[in-house]
Amino acid sequence: MGNTASPRLHGPLITQWHRPEWMLEALCRDMDPNLFYPDKSKTSSFDQLAIRLTCAGCPVAEECLEYAIVTHQREGWWGGHSPRERDRIRRVWERAGRVERSAHNSWEVRREPSWG
Ligand code: SF4
Repeated sequence: MGNTASPRLHGPLITQWHRPEWMLEALCRDMDPNLFYPDKSKTSSFDQLAIRLTCAGCPVAEECLEYAIVTHQREGWWGGHSPRERDRIRRVWERAGRVERSAHNSWEVRREPSWG
């Protein structure tokens, strides 16, 4: 039976095949990825605070959050946000026209055309 879990791209597993450039600057790249994929039933306020503080100081937090939303990451904390928080953010972004549903039922970021 295959592994159906979402790929873990944080921390040491940053060297996996699927590695956007921004991940090279991730503050968590040398951290234990388990911190960002806590057991929901055991996540303490302290764990959440540790994640939020780490992500708050990360230079690629915006890229991380956007990536998680458009690639439908259902697990873990990305950009300092839990899956439930990301769902809320995605709905706000959708209403604001920042993302739109693609033909393959995923999400795409709408960018302003570059004239430069
Ligand atoms: S925002 Fe947080 S989870 Fe995302 S790359 Fe930075 S430290 Fe890692």
